[in-house]
Amino acid sequence: MKIAVLVKYVPDTTDIEYDLNEGRILREMAPGTQNADDLAAVEAGLQYKDRYGAEVDLIAMAPESAEEMMREYLAMGADRAYLIVSPALKGSDGYVTARVLSALIARESYDLIIAGLMAADGQTGQTGPRVAEALGIPCITFADSIGEIVDGALVIARRIGDLRITYRVNLPAVITVQRHLVRARLASVQGILEAQMKEIQTLTESDLGLLPNEVGTEGSRLRVVASQKIETKRQVRWLSEKPDEAAEELVKILVERGILEPRVAP
Ligand SMILES: Cc1cc2nc3c(=O)[nH]c(=O)nc-3n(C[C@H](O)[C@H](O)[C@H](O)COP(=O)(O)OP(=O)(O)OC[C@H]3O[C@@H](n4cnc5c(N)ncnc54)[C@H](O)[C@@H]3O)c2cc1C
Repeated sequence: MKIAVLVKYVPDTTDIEYDLNEGRILREMAPGTQNADDLAAVEAGLQYKDRYGAEVDLIAMAPESAEEMMREYLAMGADRAYLIVSPALKGSDGYVTARVLSALIARESYDLIIAGLMAADGQTGQTGPRVAEALGIPCITFADSIGEIVDGALVIARRIGDLRITYRVNLPAVITVQRHLVRARLASVQGILEAQMKEIQTLTESDLGLLPNEVGTEGSRLRVVASQKIETKRQVRWLSEKPDEAAEELVKILVERGILEPRVAP
């Protein structure tokens, strides 16, 4: 069984700068890091490996500096890593990103593809479902369990509000997982040492049979037409009256700000 885990190299969200003309995050200025949901995705992949003896590959479309992140995941126990990196990929929207990732997935032929539910920076939550769509295979988002593989099918639950629904889906399939699903294992010292010997293959769009004009800005379906920074203003006001009076005052303030409807006399 072959498993691919999609791992995004996200800029540290506490340290993000924007290019407002181009409407993009200046990723090259921010230190990159693991995406929290992807850590759970890697752990889920490794739990399948423990149970069923699967091979777990990591796939990232990211700058070269993501190599360190790949080593961290390899140290947890993943088998190999693919880093798709090329200047032509700059400006790739969700459509192109999924197209590039799925080209590699199709080439390597995986039984199960695990992605994070959402990336901390882009936050579209579209990548897993778009990859499934590109490959023409099913996708279970928001997986609420690791599930079991029975006769070539995955039996897996997802949660919607108070409802837990269990699905049976033929492999290959895509699942997306959230950070709360599983607690990721720590890398052992041996794992860290072994990770240095494991292969990280770098490739470009042309290795995947894609032309430069099919990726990046040219290949993308979305264009940024405007972007602006939203200024958040905060104001602290202490209400130091007695509780009854403070409550009255609070209601008055909320009504003034249009948050509460004014009380209508009976
Ligand atoms: C017009 C436009 C231009 C853009 N230009 C750039 C650019 O120049 N550089 C840039 O970095 N981004 C760029 N982006 C953003 C890029 O398209 C998104 O980061 C990408 O589509 C993933 O979407 P997301 O961040 O919302 O991830 P989500 O869909 O929320 O991520 C869900 C999961 O998918 C997987 N995943 C997502 N992205 C990757 C990846 N790259 N590699 C492996 N797994 C992944 C992870 O498992 C992740 O947890 C651009 C977007 C637009 C619309």
